[in-house]
Amino acid sequence: MSVHIEIQRSAQSRLSEVDFNDVGFGKYFSDHMFVADYVDDRWQDLRVVPYENLSLSPACAALHYGQALFEGMKAYKSAEGEVLVFRPDENQRRLNVSADRMCMPELPAEYFHAGLEALLKLDHAWIPTAPHCSLYLRPYMFASDAVLGVRPAKEYKFIIFTAPSALYYNKPVRVRVEEKYVRAAEGGTGFAKCAGNYGASLYPTREAMKAGYDQILWTDGHLHQYIEESGTMNVLFVLKDKKILTSPVSGTILDGVTRKSILQIGREWGYQVIEERLSVETIIQAAHDGHLLEAFGAGTAATVSSISAIGYKGTDFELPAVDKNSFSRLILKELEDLKRGVIADNRHWIKRIKTA
Ligand SMILES: *Cc1c(COP(=O)(O)O)cnc(C)c1O
Repeated sequence: MSVHIEIQRSAQSRLSEVDFNDVGFGKYFSDHMFVADYVDDRWQDLRVVPYENLSLSPACAALHYGQALFEGMKAYKSAEGEVLVFRPDENQRRLNVSADRMCMPELPAEYFHAGLEALLKLDHAWIPTAPHCSLYLRPYMFASDAVLGVRPAKEYKFIIFTAPSALYYNKPVRVRVEEKYVRAAEGGTGFAKCAGNYGASLYPTREAMKAGYDQILWTDGHLHQYIEESGTMNVLFVLKDKKILTSPVSGTILDGVTRKSILQIGREWGYQVIEERLSVETIIQAAHDGHLLEAFGAGTAATVSSISAIGYKGTDFELPAVDKNSFSRLILKELEDLKRGVIADNRHWIKRIKTA
């Protein structure tokens, strides 16, 4: 199926305004965006247009009842100048999983990929090449028509914009085991990347920060006894004797692409991967006994975010320092090298986009 995309170029590129020595995260947005409208029960009017403000009804459904979801991916440039995107098929699939939960329309895979390709062909010069930098890609969808009664909207927009970015976190984080607030309840929307989940997490995160932590270690919403995620990342623990512990993905845990990639590589490297409900007690005991070597968050924005301490019931358990031979460092290097095309893509995870 060939997909027609209308291209409207920006009159003048803003690329010269970018300080590539300090791109930050979300400081700059690239020249163009991809837009598709869902109207009359089908996706139409696929187009790449200049990045600009949107015009919406004040009664726009997404703003009132939260039919909104997003994805996050990264594009890199290889030494040969090729554009490389890490596992976009996974994000495309997950977008539709989220859409289904939110009563939003599925986006056909070919529209997602054609839109991404058209956008990157136009804006590939925005991809930073410095170490740990990349072009962050933000596909998202929201209900765009005027709706006053609580019901699924009839019209939606799917947009992809991009932002040159550096690493999201750059220092190890201190996390607190959450025993009061809940990120995701059984039967809720924890597995979906829907906007409301993130709005709801801000207050508990601010409370943890006031207490001197950087992030929350989320536990199950029922008993607060099992570890689920950390901040907006999946969380993994490395124990002595080459063991990796992580919670299985479920209705309350997002199925992260970084997580599944790390687990696969870990298995290839001879680690025993244990995906079982993971009690806080197990981890605290392992920290206490010195069996816990590393804990880290895994997600697209940061790739790997080391945890230096875990706060639990008023006590901080400090973790050993990581060095260049630590699993989290080696896996970060493996993934970065893979994403940049420095090492062979034996697992067929990289989508290559020709720019010429
Ligand atoms: C996006 C996200 C992740 C990480 O998923 P990736 O596909 O690795 O980026 C983990 N947990 C939550 C809650 C998220 O929103």
